[in-house]
Amino acid sequence: MTLTQQDCRALDAQDPLRALRDLFHIPEGTIYLDGNSLGVMPRSAPARVADVVAREWGTDLIQSWNKNGWFAMPKKIGDKIARLIGAAPGTVVATDSTSINLFKVLSAAMHLAQADSPGRKRIVSERSNFPTDLYIAEALCRERGFELVLVEPEEIASALTPEVAVLMLTHVNYRTGAMHDMPAMTAAAHATGALMLWDLAHSAGAVPVDLTGAGADYAVGCGYKYLNGGPGAPAFVWVHPRHTDRFWQPLAGWWGHATPFEFTPDYKPAPGITRYQCGTQPMISLAALECGVDTLLAAEAHGGMAALRRKSLALTDLFISLVDERCQGHGIGLATPLDHAQRGSQVCLTKDEGAYAIVQALIARGVVGDFRAGDGARHKDILRFGFTPLYIGFEDVWHAAEHLRAVLESGEWQRAEFNTKHAVT
Ligand SMILES: *Cc1c(COP(=O)(O)O)cnc(C)c1O
Repeated sequence: MTLTQQDCRALDAQDPLRALRDLFHIPEGTIYLDGNSLGVMPRSAPARVADVVAREWGTDLIQSWNKNGWFAMPKKIGDKIARLIGAAPGTVVATDSTSINLFKVLSAAMHLAQADSPGRKRIVSERSNFPTDLYIAEALCRERGFELVLVEPEEIASALTPEVAVLMLTHVNYRTGAMHDMPAMTAAAHATGALMLWDLAHSAGAVPVDLTGAGADYAVGCGYKYLNGGPGAPAFVWVHPRHTDRFWQPLAGWWGHATPFEFTPDYKPAPGITRYQCGTQPMISLAALECGVDTLLAAEAHGGMAALRRKSLALTDLFISLVDERCQGHGIGLATPLDHAQRGSQVCLTKDEGAYAIVQALIARGVVGDFRAGDGARHKDILRFGFTPLYIGFEDVWHAAEHLRAVLESGEWQRAEFNTKHAVT
């Protein structure tokens, strides 16, 4: 027997993370299950951003680079993000976008692999990886005479042959919420002599990550998803200290120079993660990102990522069982693994027909999830619901499942207004 609404309310009352919800501005009447795509705004962000604009830019102007710490912001925020992903201080920098950071580290990894064993000219990734990761890899392979090999998850082990230079995986799959075993996969890559590159877009701030413990080589991740950094927030990049100084990254701009303010005509890379910076960074966006990252650090006083993980699994378990119990007979399937060890912080449901319209009907009711199209073969259309344990409660989950039941039973999703595709899904 699944929990009742009263049970869910009681769970919220006992939730040690409950107070963290007050750190966010959650729009009235909204149950926001899309924090995996764009995190909710921290309450601290408007005043902080206004201060950067009015005081730091408006009054302090150019002095802000020193006086207000602008120049050090990418590394300062990088150190905060490091605490969430098992990285040492001074090994992460918050900068550029995930796509751009991936280009930098994949390029560096390809050079490193080639230097150590010139025969390795293959990148392996998953066919269902987020497209930008595959496009960046394809472009680099084309340029360097490498080959990009795309496989299904169960084929990764057999794809790890002696030709493989880099195994590039996204830790939590954006469509299904399925999570890889980071230490095991990293060990498998290393056992065949390949380097391991992780994309943490759906992991950082969502699930515990220990890059150092796993012995990974490179990682990138996103600032605007579970880190709540705001639309287009800078992303982050991590490189294991054993590799940072071995190669230039290809976007060798002046912020990665050893002595940028000597303005020398030749490039001399800074030691460590600093060389993974390129050029001048967006200070207003970095200020907003810091507000978002600080909401996760605030959880450290309440058990940190381990407590967030416990709650996330409880929330996704609850949603799965409520949907199973209350939405029978409508052809709803589950794409997210039931096994906790293989689940990120989202639940993805499948439906052969009407998935897009059902999501639209739910949004009209204030339950915001999103839709991801299938490929007509292996992957079905997906209704995707992200559960951010910082601000989603158990009663929210109960209501979300109730709305889904109502949308399915009433057939309201078949209305024309819910069946018109918008530019952004
Ligand atoms: C969200 C996401 C991105 C986004 O990349 P941008 O450069 O920010 O557009 C990249 N990779 C993965 C796996 C993602 O989930």
